[in-house]
Amino acid sequence: MKKEKVEVTGDVRVRYAPSPTGFLHLGNAQSALFNYLFAKHYNGTWVLRIEDTDLKRNVEHGEDSQMENLHWLGIDWDEGPDKPNTEFAPYHQTERVDIYRKYVQQLLDAGLAYKDYATEEELKELHDQQVAAKIAPHYDGRWYGATKEQIQQAEAEGRSYTIRLHLPSDHIYEWKDMIKGPVAFNSDNIGGDFIIEKSNGMATYNFAVVIDDYLMKISHVLRGDDHIANTPKQLAVYEALGLEPPVFGHITLIYSLDTKKKLSKRDKDTLQFISQYRKYGYLSEAVLNFIAFLGWSPVGEKELFTREELIEAYDVNRMSASPAYFDQKKLDWTNGEYIKKLSVDELTERIVSLVEDAETEVAEQLKALGIEKDLDFIKKIVDIYHTEAKTLMTFMEKILFIKTVEQVTFTYADLADFDKESIKQILTVLSTELEKESGAIDYSAIVATIQKETKQKGRNLYMPLNVIFTDSKSAPQITDILSVMPKETVQQLIDNAMAYLND
Ligand code: GLU
Repeated sequence: MKKEKVEVTGDVRVRYAPSPTGFLHLGNAQSALFNYLFAKHYNGTWVLRIEDTDLKRNVEHGEDSQMENLHWLGIDWDEGPDKPNTEFAPYHQTERVDIYRKYVQQLLDAGLAYKDYATEEELKELHDQQVAAKIAPHYDGRWYGATKEQIQQAEAEGRSYTIRLHLPSDHIYEWKDMIKGPVAFNSDNIGGDFIIEKSNGMATYNFAVVIDDYLMKISHVLRGDDHIANTPKQLAVYEALGLEPPVFGHITLIYSLDTKKKLSKRDKDTLQFISQYRKYGYLSEAVLNFIAFLGWSPVGEKELFTREELIEAYDVNRMSASPAYFDQKKLDWTNGEYIKKLSVDELTERIVSLVEDAETEVAEQLKALGIEKDLDFIKKIVDIYHTEAKTLMTFMEKILFIKTVEQVTFTYADLADFDKESIKQILTVLSTELEKESGAIDYSAIVATIQKETKQKGRNLYMPLNVIFTDSKSAPQITDILSVMPKETVQQLIDNAMAYLND
């Protein structure tokens, strides 16, 4: 069967349902964004639900991180713990335990679910036997149809129990996935009767999610591909309860361009948490734009989209079923383009806020220098590097460099390609001209004088100057950089270079 064109009709309600077991990472943000775009494009409602039933794995501030970073990305939900709709609240699964129990009881009463008194050791033994026999591990239904006596005996032994859903055998669970096309699983291949309520009385994810999606009137479930094997289990719950399932769509996961494998938290070189993008100077609108292309593409070649334009252009039929690759160069390019679009004043404001947050070493050092009070200086640097900066961090590093240049150890290795005597001549003229100046110094005029007197120009003039004053062969206008340095600093750098050249 081929994938059919998806028509989105009716009341659209979608949800993003993070588990607060970690901080908002790229994969989360990708799910959140596609749910947001889906809701906005098809005039629906976007719900934020917190799936916090796995108490042991919940981390402190996991939920705050989800919310704060979604705010930062500029994608706000219509309904959620902080914006409850009384028809659907509460939005934390841990507050819905009694609701799940009611439905579990319904299944128990109908004989579609049952108590499983198997101990952990027994289940482990079963698992090991199956692995040894090279068959796919599955629960063998040993407590299905247990007699009253067996149950009494188990109770008398003080065994605890879980509650499992009984699956019909050789039954097909299938759905038309909005992204993958038709998908089908046989009930015999999904791990056997599965747990819907744990021994601590808490519903499992696969059960709670169905009850919530049903009660919250979720029309379309858009979530990561890693949940595809959960969908037949959820369909089994819908079927057992006689409920209509929503439409499913499984979003492609994000792969590393280097390893061609699924991006994992172990890929330390890749920024994966949204808070990291913020602190390392990526702009929220650029990150949003970048994420939108991880699993979706618009018609045409246009690559830069505002949030509003993304909403307009979004089409679920253009979601891709093949892996999305994380391309750092593309992210940097996108960010650089957004930086160019912002004014010097706006960029300065964002830099100041990063400095005030002091979440990176550079920001911390700049804060210690009190740089956030010297807006004119920041603006000058932003202006100089405006078209070449890839992140706000570029500006911050340049600011720090220039402010602390006298403590920087220059290697001058790049001067090796140039004639020493000519460089000394250049510096001598520069130094003489500097001495004549007081007040604002016109470095363009000085460089013109140097050219006239030394007959050096182009690469032979500018590259040595770049190296001597910025410790790098390439720099934007060196005259602009010199004009933001105190005269004494320029003189000091001349002296340092002279000492090196005379050595
Ligand atoms: N809580 C699940 C997760 O964080 C999401 C489940 C779903 O979207 O159905 O992966």
